[in-house]
Amino acid sequence: MDYKERQIKQWATKRKNGTDVGWNKGQKGLCSDETIRKMRKSATGIHRKEANGMWQGGITLLGFQIRNSVRYSKWRSDIFSRDNYICQKCGATRCKIEAHHIKMFSLIIRENAIKSLEGAELCEELWNINNGITLCKKCHKEENGIQMKDNKYAIKLAQITPLKYNR
Ligand SMILES: [Zn+2]
Repeated sequence: MDYKERQIKQWATKRKNGTDVGWNKGQKGLCSDETIRKMRKSATGIHRKEANGMWQGGITLLGFQIRNSVRYSKWRSDIFSRDNYICQKCGATRCKIEAHHIKMFSLIIRENAIKSLEGAELCEELWNINNGITLCKKCHKEENGIQMKDNKYAIKLAQITPLKYNR
């Protein structure tokens, strides 16, 4: 029996015996009404967009628009054809491929202060195919993980040596 099965069995037993109660059940008074009120108030502040350091002024929507633009699909297909539709990290061919930004897409948007789709069209850096590389889905996930793990907004270039025989 593996870990998961054991866990499921334990839960079932607890449910049957009526011992599946939360650790804090019945422990009223852990937080006074006053504390709860204060917690609620401060949480409201945290989630206000201006107070949130992660808020990027609607960049997510803009990012979505750019990624769905005609120009973007051209950028992507230019990279795919240059790389012969082969993952440049592991060499996989018969798999779903994606175009990876060597310098992060969100960073380019930020650095160039791109605020609209029109602004994006004018940004040379965004459409430079040398900033793109073909990766399979698995390698793309790995690369993005590496980039995100570092500082989200630090310049982090992909640590990939493109497979030379494909070029
Ligand atoms: Zn790959």
